[in-house]
Amino acid sequence: MNSTVFRLWRDLRSARRLGPGEMERRQRRRLAALVAFARARSPYYRELYRDLPGTVTDPALLPVTSKQELMPRFDDWVTDPEVTLERARAFVARPGLVGSRFLGRYLVGTTSGTTGSPGIFLADDDCLAVSFAIALQMRMTWFGPREIAGIVARRGRLAAVVATGGHFMAAAGSTRLGAVSRATRLFSVHAPTAQLVAELNRFRPAVLIGYTSALSLLADEQAAGRLHIDPVLVEPAGETLTPTERERIATTFGTMVRAPYGSTECTHLTDGCSAGWFHVNTDWVIVEPVDADHRPVPPGEPSAGVLISNLANRVQPILRYELGDSVVLRPDPCPCGDLRPALSVQGRSADVLRFPTPDGERIVVPLALATVVDRTPGVGRFQLVQTAPSTLRVRLHPADGADPAAVRVAVHRELGGLLEGYGLPGITLEDAEEAPAQDSRGGKFRTVIPLDAALPHLRPAR
Ligand SMILES: [Zn+2]
Repeated sequence: MNSTVFRLWRDLRSARRLGPGEMERRQRRRLAALVAFARARSPYYRELYRDLPGTVTDPALLPVTSKQELMPRFDDWVTDPEVTLERARAFVARPGLVGSRFLGRYLVGTTSGTTGSPGIFLADDDCLAVSFAIALQMRMTWFGPREIAGIVARRGRLAAVVATGGHFMAAAGSTRLGAVSRATRLFSVHAPTAQLVAELNRFRPAVLIGYTSALSLLADEQAAGRLHIDPVLVEPAGETLTPTERERIATTFGTMVRAPYGSTECTHLTDGCSAGWFHVNTDWVIVEPVDADHRPVPPGEPSAGVLISNLANRVQPILRYELGDSVVLRPDPCPCGDLRPALSVQGRSADVLRFPTPDGERIVVPLALATVVDRTPGVGRFQLVQTAPSTLRVRLHPADGADPAAVRVAVHRELGGLLEGYGLPGITLEDAEEAPAQDSRGGKFRTVIPLDAALPHLRPAR
């Protein structure tokens, strides 16, 4: 642990000991500093904030931002003039650079899995140190002597089942972890299940991190006796876990299943607790559940969206940024004893696709499908809709200047290849006339929509 992380970790501990009031005081101080910095260094924010008072400590004064508004203004949005969208795009186009530093100083993550329009996000050293300190503190509250002994016995081996070959913050972060610790290994969600199972059996991880849908698949394998690992912790990432699925994974592996809720824009948003809630790290982030008009939603009611501010990252300020998830703030104290605000996430889920096979069914992780389409040259926006058990409808909007027919052929080839790898050669790929469409249920754009899109844990929208 370097001295910056150690200093931050001590700061976190003292803030948490002093209580929510002190955490909020630090939040206001950090917000004022970040707003001042953004105004000084980002032409976009200078213009956006031109009518605001000199010092801002109340987030409600700030206009709402979103990926759709910020990405087209990328070069004005960032605070480092050497960072340009052109350079960042060239960097992420090279999968071999996952986890290495852009311009020698920034970690890069892209979003594509659930949001439709691509985003590129940079994290600076201060942000990475805060995220690391928060993750460390969170795990220290999770682990008792039994877990620590288990981790030591397995030499701290950490298996991350991620979409390799793409610049996802999870992969970038894990690769970075891998650079400091030889005990970390990445496993690809795209690998055939039998191969993934064999590799994990050999590796015997102490900690298993992965997309929820991938973990569900691995729980099936463990239940069937083909996978036989005994991790101390299973940590779902990227997608929300339903209580039923969490219980099933915990029982199948006989272990603790716990995770924070975060996003590429702010990985240190919350800590997961023993009662299954997410506690907001209020000293380093601001989380505002809002309705469709960005007005505050009271605790106990599902929000239409959530505005986040990441107070640790300066290179690309995320301030009152619309995240699109629906959350519910807990109205009463959390039974785990943590006094920080607690929320549950309603709007993201493990939407795995189930395709029939002669011997049953095969599960495909939505991210696996989204990744191969996303990396196909010429693809702008896209959406895959399972319209029948063996039919996948492809809604495609080519990038500017791309030949639509050629892009379709390329997408068919990529998807066909992936499905064949899953042992699903008989899936019909259907070309859609219509453009990618917004999800009617929650307003959030989803790139992959399974046949049975009804999510029992989702509360009806108001
Ligand atoms: Zn709690």
